[in-house]
Amino acid sequence: MSQSSEYLISTNPANGEEVGRVRITSVAELDGCVERAWHAFHHSGWKSLLPHRRALVLNAIADGLAAEKEKLAHLQMRDNGKPLGECRGMVESAIGTFRYYAAVCETIETDVTPSRGDYLSFTVLEPYGVVAAITPWNSPIMNDATKVAPALAAGNAVLLKPSEDSPLLGPELARIALAAGLPADMLQVVQGRGAEIGAALVAHPGVRMISFTGGTVSGSAIGRVAGERLVPAALELGGKSPHVVFADADMDHAVAAVVAGIFGSAGQSCVAGSRLFVQAERYDEVVERVVARAKGLRVALPDAEGVEMGPLASFHHRERVIRFVERARQEGGRILCGGGIPQGPDFDKGAFFEPTVIDGLGPRAASCQEEAFGPVLVALPFKDEADLIAQANGTAFGLACGIWTESFKRAWRIGRALEAGSVWINTYKQSVTSTPFGGFKNSGIGREKGIDGLRLYAQVKSMYFGLHEQPLAVAK
Ligand code: NAD
Repeated sequence: MSQSSEYLISTNPANGEEVGRVRITSVAELDGCVERAWHAFHHSGWKSLLPHRRALVLNAIADGLAAEKEKLAHLQMRDNGKPLGECRGMVESAIGTFRYYAAVCETIETDVTPSRGDYLSFTVLEPYGVVAAITPWNSPIMNDATKVAPALAAGNAVLLKPSEDSPLLGPELARIALAAGLPADMLQVVQGRGAEIGAALVAHPGVRMISFTGGTVSGSAIGRVAGERLVPAALELGGKSPHVVFADADMDHAVAAVVAGIFGSAGQSCVAGSRLFVQAERYDEVVERVVARAKGLRVALPDAEGVEMGPLASFHHRERVIRFVERARQEGGRILCGGGIPQGPDFDKGAFFEPTVIDGLGPRAASCQEEAFGPVLVALPFKDEADLIAQANGTAFGLACGIWTESFKRAWRIGRALEAGSVWINTYKQSVTSTPFGGFKNSGIGREKGIDGLRLYAQVKSMYFGLHEQPLAVAK
C-alpha cells in the first residue's frame, strides 16, 4: 500500500506493481455513510424480513462469490501476495460462511423462558442497527465474510472497513452482495487508515456495535473507545501460539504440522504456531527435522507451480519482520535457518523473506513474547508437563495451541491447562465457520463463528405476554 491524499494504492508485494486504487473515505463523508446505513436499516425491509427470506439473499451472495471465485482469488493474491491456492481456499471459506449463516438464519432458536406468573415470557433477537466491521490485511475476503455474513443475518446494516494494506476485496464483496439482492446501503465499505477513518468509525455515535480483527494495540485502543461509548466490541487479536511436541508424538505428523503451522501464509496468521516447545529428550532431533524441512520449502511467486510460501503482504511489513529477527540476534538467539531475504531473479522485486528458525532464547525474551506475524519460529525445550505449562502460558496472548502426543489423557490435561481459545490435538490450524473462534487473555474478547456467531450481532429482548384474569394490583 502507498497513499496519496485521496487514494489508497494497493501494491502487489510479489513485484511492487500497482494492482489498483480506492478512494479514501473522508471523515466528513463518514456521517453520510452512517446516515444511509441507518436509513437502509429502518426502511429497506431487511430487518423485518423473515429469517428464511434473509437466508435466500445470503445464499445468493454465496452464489455470487462462487461465480467469481477465480477472479477474487487472483485479486486477493495480487492485493496481499498469498499463494493462489491459499487465496482460492479463502474465497471458498467466504462462500461457506455465507451459506452457513443462511442455514443458521433458518434454524436459530430463541427461548420460551420458564414463566413465574400469569404471563408467557420468551426472548427474541434484535439487531443492533449499524455495525462497524474492521478487518486486517492477512485474509481479507475470509475475515470480511466472518463478520459481514452473521451481522447481516442478524438484521444489521454493516460498515466494513478493510485494512489500508488490502483495500480491494471489500468493495468486491459489497458489489456482489448488492447484485445478489441485499438492499442498497445495508453493506457499505469505508476506506482509509486505521488511525483516521478507523478511529472515526469506532467513535461515531451512529455505530452501535464494533467487530474488530487486528493487532492487540489497535484492539486495546478500540476497546477503550467502546468502553467510553458503552457499545459492545468483539475483539479478535494477535497471538504467540505454542506448538507442543511430546517425546511420544508421531514425529512425522508433528514435524509436518509444526512447519505448516508457522510457514503457511508466510506466518501471517493470527494462529501461527510461532513458539515450538519440544520435550527435552527429543529436542535436537525434532528441531533438526523442522529446520531441514524449512530449508527445503519452495519459496516462490504466489502463482508458481508448487509454491509453499509467497512474499510477505507488504514491503513495510517485511521491514518489521527484519527488525524482529535482528532483535532476536541481539537477544542471543541462534538463527538455525533463514533470517534474511532470499536471493534470485524471482525475489528481486518482491517482499520475500526466508523461513526462519531461531533457538537459544529464554521464554521471557521479547522474541518469544511478541508476535512477529511472519515466517519466524522460536524453538524452546521443556522438561516436563509443569515446565511446559509455565512456559507456554507465560505470555500475554492466548489464541491457540497445538499438542502432539499419543497419550489422550495427557492431551486432555495439557489441553485444559493451556490458556488458549482453540486447542488442536494431533492436528493444527483447523478453523471452520461452524466452530467458535476467539482468544483468551490479550488475544481477544468474544467468539466469532458457530451458531452463537450470529448472536454476537444481536441483542436479546425479553418479552412478556400478560394472561391475567384480574387487573394488576399496585402491591401484592
Ligand atoms: P491492525 O490492528 O494494524 O489493523 C487492523 C485493522 O484495524 C485495519 O483495518 C486498520 O486500519 C484498523 N485500525 C487500526 N487502528 C485502528 C483504530 N485505532 N481504530 C479503528 N481501526 C483501526 O492489524 P493488521 O496489521 O492489519 O493485522 C495484523 C494483526 O491482526 C496481527 O496482530 C494478527 O494476529 C491479527 N489478526 C487476528 C486475527 C484473529 O482472528 N484473532 C485474525 C487475523 C489477524
